[in-house]
Amino acid sequence: MEAESTVDHIEAGFRPSFPGFWKDVSPAEWSDWKWQLRNRITTLEGLEKHLVLTPEERAGVILSGTKLALAVTPHYFNLIERDNPGCPIRRQIIPYVGEGSVSAAEMADPCGEDSHMPVPGLVHRYPDRVLFLVTDRCAAYCRYCTRSRVVSGAGEQELETDFDQAIAYLEQHTEVRDVLLSGGDPLLFSDEKLDALLGRLRAIPHIEFVRIGTRVPIFLPQRITPELCAILKKHHPLFMSVHVNHPRELTTEVRDALARLADHGVPLGNQSVLLRGVNDSLSVMKSLVQKLLRCRVRPYYLYQCDLIQGSAHLRAPVAKGIEIIEGLRGHTTGYAVPQYVIDAPGGGGKVPVNPGYVFFHDREKVVFRNFEGKVFEYPEVEESVRSTPAPLHEEAFTS
Ligand code: SF4
Repeated sequence: MEAESTVDHIEAGFRPSFPGFWKDVSPAEWSDWKWQLRNRITTLEGLEKHLVLTPEERAGVILSGTKLALAVTPHYFNLIERDNPGCPIRRQIIPYVGEGSVSAAEMADPCGEDSHMPVPGLVHRYPDRVLFLVTDRCAAYCRYCTRSRVVSGAGEQELETDFDQAIAYLEQHTEVRDVLLSGGDPLLFSDEKLDALLGRLRAIPHIEFVRIGTRVPIFLPQRITPELCAILKKHHPLFMSVHVNHPRELTTEVRDALARLADHGVPLGNQSVLLRGVNDSLSVMKSLVQKLLRCRVRPYYLYQCDLIQGSAHLRAPVAKGIEIIEGLRGHTTGYAVPQYVIDAPGGGGKVPVNPGYVFFHDREKVVFRNFEGKVFEYPEVEESVRSTPAPLHEEAFTS
């Protein structure tokens, strides 16, 4: 009896995506990631077969032909509420007319990546790590994508990654110890291509580990096959950052895909983007972060939406992000609380933004509050101790 109730508890809140709109499809076809890619919805007609679009959405779809393409996997499309234009899944993936309105503060490259590329496709902004943009294709296209200038192939700019030059750069730059593969989505590579790329990177002695940034486990959980997991396991240490914004995205299929990755020793973190009408609510975010932990995914970052062109309708105020963190910190497991960050416009990197807990700090004390608003004082280390050298030197711990 006890075992049954534990299983019920773990299952609670996870729903399958299949079959939804695809009642005539066999489970074998549905579980084939190549079938999912072949059957993506990419046209106005495809959308209107299943949904009644609003005029704003129809105009958005027409715009998407010259900006960021439309593509939705059947798996993800099934999460859309058919009769609700405000559906949080729909807002993320169906184009909207607002994508054509560009304000003065918005930019094509809000994180200044292009100006930090020593070789095409490799962004070297932080001292010891690089971002390697390995493809411009994704399983589906998020309407707020930071890299919409190059992703999907619909816009004017093209990603022209030079793999040989990038590997040569990494071999020469011994200060680089961490490579983040992103794009686009690296998990759209074939098993052989991904294996070969990871092998080239792991052969560079000073690269201590590799990370993969991907939304494939969410858009296309069928891609997380046992064969792919075995390849990833060969290249440890290898970390993965997934991208989940709403608890409904954690379906049974996604939960099982994440479990396969975790069972192959891949540490999983999540990066959410704070989005208006999607997850700009404490109750939605609390449900998301708690559900992520049940999938063995550690909520890592909550991003303020970048100043990407045409994203105003999806941006929530910074005050809302701070309010959400305030409502999580201390109120739920610390592991569940992501770091809220703003990627400084123009290329300043990620800056943490936190609720104010410290009221006062000098050489004698720090005065702060806890999550309930109670005020406390902590005495600073005394002057006599500060001026005495510590008994062990840092070097003793670094080798
Ligand atoms: S999966 Fe990532 S790279 Fe692809 S469209 Fe979404 S945010 Fe952009």
